[in-house]
Amino acid sequence: MPNHKIQRRKFLTDTAKAGIGLAMIPSFLQAQQSNAITTIDFKQQPLPYSYKDLEPYIDAATMEIHYTKHAAGYTKKLNEALKEEYKNKSAATIENILSNISSYSTKMRNNAGGHYNHELFWQTMTPNATKQPTDILANSINTSFGSFDNLKKQFSDAALKRFGSGWAWLIATSEGLKITSTPNQDNPLMDIATEKGFPLLGLDVWEHAYYLKYQNKRGEYINNWWNIVNWEVVAKRLNSSFK
Ligand code: MN
Repeated sequence: MPNHKIQRRKFLTDTAKAGIGLAMIPSFLQAQQSNAITTIDFKQQPLPYSYKDLEPYIDAATMEIHYTKHAAGYTKKLNEALKEEYKNKSAATIENILSNISSYSTKMRNNAGGHYNHELFWQTMTPNATKQPTDILANSINTSFGSFDNLKKQFSDAALKRFGSGWAWLIATSEGLKITSTPNQDNPLMDIATEKGFPLLGLDVWEHAYYLKYQNKRGEYINNWWNIVNWEVVAKRLNSSFK
C-alpha cells in the first residue's frame, strides 16, 4: 500500500536521522527450537527485576503470584497443547502459532496468547522508567495520536472499558500506531483478532493483575501503571516492526 510505503520510508529516514540502528532486537519470545517435535518447549524468561521492584505501583505479592502461578500456568499448558496438536515443526515460533491460531484448539489459543502476552508484559515494565517516549517513538505517537497525552487517554480508556478479562494494546500497523483491546488471552497477532498489528505495549487487565492491591479500582491500577512503562523496550519493538 502506498501509504504504508511512504510512512515506512519516513520512519526509516527519521530513524537514520536519530542514529538508531535498525538491527533486530534479540527476540525474547522465540521458541527453543528442536528437530524433534516432542522437545519443543517454551520457557518463561527471568523477570528483568525483582518482585518488589515495581512497588508502589504493582505490589510484590501480585507480581510473584502473577509470574509464578498465572503466567507459569499458561506456559506449561502451551507446551502441553504443542505436544498434543502441533504439526508444523519447521515453523516453531510463537508468532507463527498465533498468526494461525484459528486452526488450533481453544487450549492452544488461550495458552499461546497467555504465554506471549505475559512475556511481553514483563519486558515492557521497569522500575527505572523514563516516563516519556523519545525520538522516533515519540514522533510516531504524535503522528498517530496527536500527542502522548492522547495516546494515554485512548489506551487507558480501552483498558478501562474492556469488559471482564483481557488486554489493552498499543500496536504498529501499516496505517501507523493504533490502540485496541482483546478479550481473555487473545492478542493482535492472532488471525482471529478484529484489529491486527504488532504489539508494542500491552496492559493486563485481568483481575489477577491488580486485585490484591487495587480490588475493584481498575482505573487506579491503569493510572499508576504508566509510571513503570519501559519506553525503551517499546521503541525497540517499534524499530523491529519495520523489518
Ligand atoms: Mn495475567
